[in-house]
Amino acid sequence: MPFEWGYQMTLMISVSGVRGLVGKTMTPTLAAEMGAAFGSHLGGGSVVIGRDSRQSGMMVQSALVGGLLATGCSAIELGIVTTPGTAMMIGVLKAAGGVVLTASHNPGEWNGIKFLTSAGIAPPPELAEKIFARFDAKDFLYVGPQQIGKRLEDNSTHVRHIEKVLPISNVDAIRKRRPRVVLDSVNGAGGIGGVMLLKELGCDVIPMNNEPNGQFAHTPEPTAENLVTLCEVVRREKADIGFAQDPDADRLAIVDETGRYIGEEYTVALVAKYLFAKTPGAAAVNLSTSRMIDDLAAKAGGGAKVHRTAVGEANVAKAIQDHRCVFGGEGNGGVIDPRVVMTRDSFVGMAHVLSLMATDGRPLSKIVDEIPRYVMVKQKFEMEPAKIKAWLERVRTISDGRVNDADGLRIDWAEGWVHVRPSNTEPIARVISEAGDEATAMRLAKRVAEMRG
Ligand code: MG
Repeated sequence: MPFEWGYQMTLMISVSGVRGLVGKTMTPTLAAEMGAAFGSHLGGGSVVIGRDSRQSGMMVQSALVGGLLATGCSAIELGIVTTPGTAMMIGVLKAAGGVVLTASHNPGEWNGIKFLTSAGIAPPPELAEKIFARFDAKDFLYVGPQQIGKRLEDNSTHVRHIEKVLPISNVDAIRKRRPRVVLDSVNGAGGIGGVMLLKELGCDVIPMNNEPNGQFAHTPEPTAENLVTLCEVVRREKADIGFAQDPDADRLAIVDETGRYIGEEYTVALVAKYLFAKTPGAAAVNLSTSRMIDDLAAKAGGGAKVHRTAVGEANVAKAIQDHRCVFGGEGNGGVIDPRVVMTRDSFVGMAHVLSLMATDGRPLSKIVDEIPRYVMVKQKFEMEPAKIKAWLERVRTISDGRVNDADGLRIDWAEGWVHVRPSNTEPIARVISEAGDEATAMRLAKRVAEMRG
């Protein structure tokens, strides 16, 4: 029987790994078998393992390492580190692969296991399917006692990460201005390295929730409703900017000096504004990312160009490689700078946004207000995959817009766009629309939604 993607009880399986509820579906048995499946696939070599600050992290890690060692792989434990830090260490230590133990922005009851290839990126779908099929069939290649792998530790991730981010930052300009920065790390994995980086950049840092103890100080997804306190602290402390990381520190949200949450779409937009001006070239973003980046590319002129990819970090990373992009990212606050690591990285996001502010000189709110503003509307519809497919065929008949079918369908008109795509993990279709005002974004979405039959 072919392997089936999707929800299995509360175990969520997708190309980016598994996520489960601790004590229910995220168990030591699962973790050990995931380790054994990955190790059997690799057939030896060393594997770096990073975990976010969740209280279940050591339980999952211990079991997973057992599974890896049993297949002859060595395990290099990095401790509580960020997802981009783990990905970066694969290259530094020339490992055969990596595993990140995180449920990203999901609450503390969850944990997840995410595999990374030797290139530090998520395995492509066909490879992920092979690993999960091996897990499903319990097809593990255990070795004898002489060949059992070694367990090692390495605690240099934060320092090495910062060493890679500093040279791509405008350190002199930032140090001269000494910006006052509030960093909310939600007691996740990003606090220690994040504060170290900001101090190295010469910022006056006000850390918030920077104990990596897994006791998330608020619902961890860095959205407006979860960052009310950060906005207050930025205002009270008269800071120049507030940053919020998610628990594994790949995503970054921003609050301006007035205490306004400006939204995760602006993270990649602000980085685009800085990098398009500094290093004219191409960028890669997914199809659901705001049109702001196209406007910024058009305004920058020169070689500035935007490639659109299917949703998912691995797709963006591939496009960055294929088109030799200067940077890439996703609208959820994830920025990739290939000079550091091919993974979304909140450290990279902070460094570039601070470099932009330091070279521009104006307060962040002024820089933000100059970027064309759009309203994005997100909807989802519960639907069986076959019905979504039929719907997409009808949407494809729209003839007055520009169609991109790299992932579901995105239709672009002069006044805005709509992107319809099936979820990889649930029987739902997501509809995202964007236009200059809410009424237009709603109208465009409605036009497409009405075609679902
Ligand atoms: Mg994350």
